[in-house]
Amino acid sequence: MNTLKIAIQKSGRLSEDSLKLIKECGIKFSNGKGKLKASADNFPIEFLFLRDDDIPGYVEDGVADLGIVGENVLVEYDNDVKLVKKLGFSKCRLSIGVDRNWDYKNIKELDGKSIATSYPKILGNYLKKNNVNAEIHEISGSVEIAPSIGLADAVCDIVSSGSTLLSNGLKEADVIMRSEAVLISGKNLSADQVKTLNQLLFRMESVQAGKNNKYILLNAPNDSIDEIISLLPGMKSPTVLPLAMEGWSSLHSVVKEDEFWEVIEKLKEAGAQGILVAPIEKMIV
Ligand code: ATP
Ligand code: MG
Repeated sequence: MNTLKIAIQKSGRLSEDSLKLIKECGIKFSNGKGKLKASADNFPIEFLFLRDDDIPGYVEDGVADLGIVGENVLVEYDNDVKLVKKLGFSKCRLSIGVDRNWDYKNIKELDGKSIATSYPKILGNYLKKNNVNAEIHEISGSVEIAPSIGLADAVCDIVSSGSTLLSNGLKEADVIMRSEAVLISGKNLSADQVKTLNQLLFRMESVQAGKNNKYILLNAPNDSIDEIISLLPGMKSPTVLPLAMEGWSSLHSVVKEDEFWEVIEKLKEAGAQGILVAPIEKMIV
């Protein structure tokens, strides 16, 4: 059997982007609202929709072969599973939050204090590493209200913009770990399942490479082509085509998303004109 079962968060901050990635990989399925299972129509994969906390355990037990979870959950539960790939979405931090009037300098200030968190293991290890002796209050939700109701002196919770902390009179004081969504797998996949996983990874990588790059077209006088080529090495090398106008060429290439603005400036300086930039849906590298 080459079919893989993948566990995805049923509803929450990971669900939508996890399903979007599956769809961008060309995998079609219909998940009737509230259904806990679904199968793909055109790829050997089945979906289980679960709470994110349960996903690493199900993958370890072999109930699911793959899962998508936040690294924060993966590290906290510490199950015997493999981290296959970082997926680049649901980026957040696990941070210490303290009263916004606290002139917090470093983690040592939490010595002798109490900290509320849903991540006792990660926090405990971090405190230990820093030789800080604090009391950990494990609570499962609404951690950020703990200081205002007198339950704890500080919190350790997931932060992305910091607005939840702020609206509870707290500020982000220390970052304990950075997290993003990851693909995990069990350790006992069959050879056929590994083949399916590799097909899935190939598709995911093509989607990610597409997102990280832009397609760029521009016109340039022939005497600046060499300089432009050095700025736009492309996948192999850029395509250069003559324009109808004597002495000019059109150049097609790819540019990395995060180098984009810097490269555009340099291209303009080198004499490029009529620069067009288009998104890439998939890129096979
Ligand atoms: P469940 O009901 O499945 O247990 P949950 O309430 O525990 O869901 P969510 O709040 O949906 O979890 O968050 C799921 C994961 O998304 C988190 O473990 C974290 O990795 C990530 N995450 C949480 N908050 C944010 C945020 N504000 N921005 C980005 N990613 C986040
Ligand atoms: Mg959860």
